Amino acid sequence: MRGNGLAIVLSVVSCLVCWLAAPSAVAQAPTAYPSQPITAIVPFPAGGPTDVIMRLLAEPMGKALGQHIVVENVAGAGGTLGSKRGAKSAPDGYTILVGNMGTHGAAPALYPKLEYDPSKDFEPIGMAAGTAIVIEARKNFPAHSLKEFVAHLKAHASEVNEAHAGVGSISYVACLMLHAQLGIKPTRVAYRGTAAALNDLVSGQVDYMCDQILNGIAQVKAGNIQAYAIASAQRSAALPNVPTTKEAGLPKFEVSAWNALFAPKGTPKEVIAKLNAALSLALDDAQTRQRLLDLGCNIPDQASRTPERLRRFVTEEVQRWTPLLKADGVVGN
Ligand code: ASP
Repeated sequence: MRGNGLAIVLSVVSCLVCWLAAPSAVAQAPTAYPSQPITAIVPFPAGGPTDVIMRLLAEPMGKALGQHIVVENVAGAGGTLGSKRGAKSAPDGYTILVGNMGTHGAAPALYPKLEYDPSKDFEPIGMAAGTAIVIEARKNFPAHSLKEFVAHLKAHASEVNEAHAGVGSISYVACLMLHAQLGIKPTRVAYRGTAAALNDLVSGQVDYMCDQILNGIAQVKAGNIQAYAIASAQRSAALPNVPTTKEAGLPKFEVSAWNALFAPKGTPKEVIAKLNAALSLALDDAQTRQRLLDLGCNIPDQASRTPERLRRFVTEEVQRWTPLLKADGVVGN
């Protein structure tokens, strides 16, 4: 009896010790991430390609993480304003950013005072989607093939208007390359994003644009705008009747875009790993995948989805675009 009594007293005391120790142990343990909604900064307006990609991924990623992903559109200056906001956000995993070939590849060459460094100010999460570039024109533009379009541009460069999403955006960079190749300087009309640019293309207020495939695809299919060529090596299964630039007679004009997720520099590795895993699950989600494919997006394979791969890729992209854009006759077109 005595022995039992001692055992009870000891176990009560040890439980009391546990109980007293517990609160501080709990306080020291990191809160399981994510414990609150995550904001995804889209550096372009709603309804455009960057926004559509993020909104498609937000739901399955949020499901995988057990938290909502709330999209915040922070548009302006070709996506560089929102990207700066992303770079300067708290590195706690609760703010992420969609960056792309423009904001994280071409922008350093076009903005001498860019307030973020695509390679140094972010922790890459992973590649999200590739987007081919399609040369599109208003429905009644007087050209019905890429050859006629090029001929028209060369003959009437001072009279035509091209729409883009701001200096440094994908559409801006793609048409900049096109104009440099053709040796022309048409009027360039800046929008905050290609969603609004597309509206004006459909209503005929601007003449053409170098658009990411998912933006204009529905309007091309509906016959509301013309698509002359896709600037990639292969045709897209989503727009099979649109020839490649090579097939259509402009073989040197090949350019394509990419879209990826980033977190601010200093975001913990474990957090990046969770976000990367959620992104990968989202890309493998049958419905999300089908939706992206229907819009003409390319889905990165497993090996291309890692943060390390994206880190190397961003550095390569900045190194690739800087001389291309600074070459004589490119910037200024
Ligand atoms: N990504 C931009 C948008 O979502 C378009 C562009 O970069 O050209 O509007």
